Amino acid sequence: MSEKLNVEDIFASKVFTLGKMKERLPRSTYKEIKQLMDQGGELSLETADVVAKAMKDWAMENGATHYTHWFQPLTGITAEKHDAFVSHPDEEGKMIMEFSGKELIKGEPDASSFPSGGLRATFEARGYTAWDITSPAFLKEDATGVILCIPTAFCSYTGEALDKKTLLRSMEAISQQALRIVRLFGNTGATKVVASVGPEQEYFLVDREKYLQREDLIFSGRTLFGAPAPKGQELEDHYFGTIRERVGSYMKDLNVELWKLGVTAKTQHNEVAPAQHELAPIYETANIAVDHNQLVMETMKKVAGRHGMTCLLHEKPFAGMNGSGKHNNWSLGTDNGVNLLDPGDTPNENIQFLLVLACIMKAVDTHADLLRQSASDVGNDHRLGGNEAPPAIISMFLGEQLEDVVKQLIETGEAAHLIEGGKLETGVSTLPDFEKDATDRNRTSPFAFTGNKFEFRTVGSADSIASPNTTLNAIVAEAFCEAADILEKADNFELAVHDLIKEYMTKHQRIMFNGDGYAHEWIAEAERRGLPNIKSMVEAASTLTTDKSIRLFERFGIFTRAELESREEITYETYAKTINIEALTMIDMAGKKYIPAVIRYTRSLADTVIAVKEAGVDASVQTELLDSVTVRLSAAKAALDKLKKAVETAAAMEDVKAQAFYYKDTVKTVMEELRTPIDELEMMVDKSVWPVPGYGELTFEV
Ligand code: ADP
Ligand code: MG
Repeated sequence: MSEKLNVEDIFASKVFTLGKMKERLPRSTYKEIKQLMDQGGELSLETADVVAKAMKDWAMENGATHYTHWFQPLTGITAEKHDAFVSHPDEEGKMIMEFSGKELIKGEPDASSFPSGGLRATFEARGYTAWDITSPAFLKEDATGVILCIPTAFCSYTGEALDKKTLLRSMEAISQQALRIVRLFGNTGATKVVASVGPEQEYFLVDREKYLQREDLIFSGRTLFGAPAPKGQELEDHYFGTIRERVGSYMKDLNVELWKLGVTAKTQHNEVAPAQHELAPIYETANIAVDHNQLVMETMKKVAGRHGMTCLLHEKPFAGMNGSGKHNNWSLGTDNGVNLLDPGDTPNENIQFLLVLACIMKAVDTHADLLRQSASDVGNDHRLGGNEAPPAIISMFLGEQLEDVVKQLIETGEAAHLIEGGKLETGVSTLPDFEKDATDRNRTSPFAFTGNKFEFRTVGSADSIASPNTTLNAIVAEAFCEAADILEKADNFELAVHDLIKEYMTKHQRIMFNGDGYAHEWIAEAERRGLPNIKSMVEAASTLTTDKSIRLFERFGIFTRAELESREEITYETYAKTINIEALTMIDMAGKKYIPAVIRYTRSLADTVIAVKEAGVDASVQTELLDSVTVRLSAAKAALDKLKKAVETAAAMEDVKAQAFYYKDTVKTVMEELRTPIDELEMMVDKSVWPVPGYGELTFEV
């Protein structure tokens, strides 16, 4: 019997929750903090001092020695610099541990070594972190000890955002604009509208010993070489399959760690590819969901080490196998309990829902390019448009019932009837019959309506979910704002709202697509409809700085032009650096491992040919094999030299955009040229001479 796990006791035990604040803070301070969390405002230094003391006491009671301003620079991961609570000892040499309100609310990390995209020169190194009061502080425990982590936003000396917390600005924008919409429908009780997010996180687990034998996994998180194993995912026996013991004990440990951090780890299962799995938490406020998703990714990696495994979060660790994404479930709710995306039983009569839907159609159609950009990262380029992931074309799936409602509205301005789900008869008397959903699912859509939320499936598994949600909030805020501008002025609201719904749906119906998003025909059809098909991260980057984008983000105070320009530049830099690392890793592995191994092999083959011939028998099989191996060896050597040259050319380029495109168009192509003969050789030569573990060993022997 395993030890009894009391989830209620351990849940959020490492989080400075509202409950703990209530216990530890004077009533008036607690009320002030709660008010600031809910409605924003200025935090006074006196209040900050009181909170800092309570936070420090709690952290120290739990073993903390240090605190850190935990932030999310534009690297896509988190950053922390630890400071001990120690201060000057007193006269008698006694240490008094201190943590002031000022230290809680403001930090000054040197910003010069974080990506800034030209916003800050290295000699202007100052940066600031500011306490994000809406995301709770927590304790991180590892070999360093126990560290109090304070979620913060990170900006430059001149105030430009250098991080992902710009999400907060988008949450304020969507709240304000959505409030205008619900007020039009008589909801005067709501004081804010909150964007909620539930990200489903996919990941791979590989054995650590095997991982350590592969430089490609170590340096780039994905395999840069590798022939397919005899078995892959074709039997569909891994998806939802029984979880292996070693993986199960990992999942159990992972859940416990996450629960302690207040993450509501809820669902776990095996995914499509061998060695691929998924974890989904329960949805929560977008800002906290973003922070928690970072903690999920960090904890996944940390716990894997304890189990002798490595967690791969890359979007495409193995060619030819399912990649990993992060389905970003998103909805909008008022603080008096109304989900704006809940259609109710009769969506055709739910005018508020239909207006919200029409606005979202308009937003997604108008800014499909930005939405696509928000989910781009280097690894995701391998996944989007592949056969198992949504295409790079953004479209919306509404399901049969809603699509029918939209069509009726477009045709007649009224939706008189509704396709019903009906009963599902199981045909067995001992099994219950069900009420069926009115709509089946569509796994191939990048942006699918799933009952009372949209599921944005384009997002990559390794990426922060901050950008996709910032963009979603921004584009929908704009559509709400434009609708409210019209409707607030209307003499006859009923009439005006019907007209507007019909107008938006008619104008933006091309964004609806209920068919197979993986089909080739869709690419042509989407082109005919004029929908953008932006195939790569570098091509998507410039969508950030179009007039349309700058107008949108500046209007709602989410990004300035300078911030957008910096983000575009960082995208090029990140892309170039990442592909450069991959190319150098391939050069290293091919030059030091594969080619020498194959040369040794050809030598023993040549010896064999000679020996067999001397013995006076037919050596044609050996000769033929030697020939085929040598042909590929030459091809590999030629590609290796070509890749070295390409990398040198890239390094000499000064324009960062041109450089990024060169990596995409030239360096990546040569990388493929090198990979092909090596992968073919892997399938031809004696297994014992192959220098690294192959796909079969990596994905089936976990
Ligand atoms: P499925 O995608 O299979 O329908 P679930 O309904 O369990 O699975 O949801 C997947 C994720 O979506 C979970 O993280 C869940 O908490 C989240 N989710 C459910 N309802 C909402 C909602 N209204 N808003 C945002 N996320 C939601
Ligand atoms: Mg889902």
